[in-house]
Amino acid sequence: DYLNRIRQTERQIGSFLHVSEENALREAAEIDAKIERGEELGRLAGVVIGVKDNLCTVGMPSTGGSKILDGYRPAFDATAVRRLKESGAVVVGKTNLDEFGMGSTTEASGFQVTRNPWDVSRVPGGSSGGSAAAVSSRQCVVSLGSDTGGSIRQPASFCGVVGIKPTYGRVSRFGLMAYASSLDVIGCFGSSVTDAAILLSVISGHDRYDATSSKQEVPDYAACLVSTKKLEFKPLKGLRVGVIRETLGDGVDAGVISSVQAAISHLEELGSVVTEVTLPSFSLGLPAYYILASSESSSNLSRYDGVRYGNQVVADELSSLYGDSRGQGFGSEVKMRILMGTYALSAGYYDAYYKRAQQVRTLIQKSFKAALDENDILISPAAPTAAYKIGEKVNDPLAMYAGDVMTVNVNLAGLPALVVPCGLVEGGTAGLPVGLQMIGAAYNEVESLSYGVQDP
Ligand code: GLN
Repeated sequence: DYLNRIRQTERQIGSFLHVSEENALREAAEIDAKIERGEELGRLAGVVIGVKDNLCTVGMPSTGGSKILDGYRPAFDATAVRRLKESGAVVVGKTNLDEFGMGSTTEASGFQVTRNPWDVSRVPGGSSGGSAAAVSSRQCVVSLGSDTGGSIRQPASFCGVVGIKPTYGRVSRFGLMAYASSLDVIGCFGSSVTDAAILLSVISGHDRYDATSSKQEVPDYAACLVSTKKLEFKPLKGLRVGVIRETLGDGVDAGVISSVQAAISHLEELGSVVTEVTLPSFSLGLPAYYILASSESSSNLSRYDGVRYGNQVVADELSSLYGDSRGQGFGSEVKMRILMGTYALSAGYYDAYYKRAQQVRTLIQKSFKAALDENDILISPAAPTAAYKIGEKVNDPLAMYAGDVMTVNVNLAGLPALVVPCGLVEGGTAGLPVGLQMIGAAYNEVESLSYGVQDP
């Protein structure tokens, strides 16, 4: 069914860089055989899943959306992917992304543009735009994405699906192509909170191949949801919700504000105690993020030298082998980030940019901690606008970066956040979805997930 659906819709949407029919049918047949033999099935047995192409997968190409890795086939699975396979999931293909995760529209993919299923003249968001569009158009049940500064939450918002960015360290990054290692997190897309919660339980937990992966116990997220659902009367009674004042003002579309406000009123009706919180350093998050993410990426991307991985240009000298392989392999957004990051890390500029940005990061972490001491969850829109037109911001990178204002702070603070659809604004034929972001305390994914699922 899902392969048929992909055949019908893929030409219009373009979610996948690679669809593995053979692989999917073989894995599905293995599940059938297990059922016949009466064997125990894994938690995701037969669940069709798309995987962002910056995650390494055995038997399928893994390009990170970059021409420099065109044709690269890893010899190992990312830990998150291995856990999926062990639980019986059927990996149907690899989804499109902005090259190495750098972008907010999926237009910076080295291969193709992905279109928003709600209106194919619009972007699906990014960088995990392929994973969001695939779930939104029912090409797969759930999908994996990665989130360095919003790459799960903003496309979830644009495509009207659920997205969860777990706490930094909750999911092993082994096998995820590094963009900015202190910010990168693997997370989930689903068409319901329960689906995303089940997927998160499967991929979470310590991994000896990633020293930053946490040893904290992993709850059964979906089971936690069921128990909160059983509370019949005023299920959110007493829940302390802090609305981040800085996220509902200038620069945010009126339709987005009114959808989020309707969600806030709904939470109040369900018994939540809603107050306004201010995060004074909120607006500093965007510049700090772009300095830190570019700096880390300039270092991480030095491994793509045309020798160890991917495409190599024939050259007479070693320096032109490096230069030409990188020059031809990387797209312009990636080159811009490498230049910005190298600049920010240079002697003489380091203190003014990188060090300063790290100090701002500490300020942001502290202000979130203080706000989450007083509140169970914090709320904001997931993005200042709904999905915009393809091409609208390609020549204006600063305008595109500004669209990440709602999400980057959460990565700087390492916190978990859930995005659920909360309304529609005008556009397309059926309207365009708006996402509500719920931010929880570190390692408290359950809180934000549970509140996302409530619906009387
Ligand atoms: N849009 C942001 C960037 O370009 C975030 C991307 C991401 O989370 N991978 O850096």
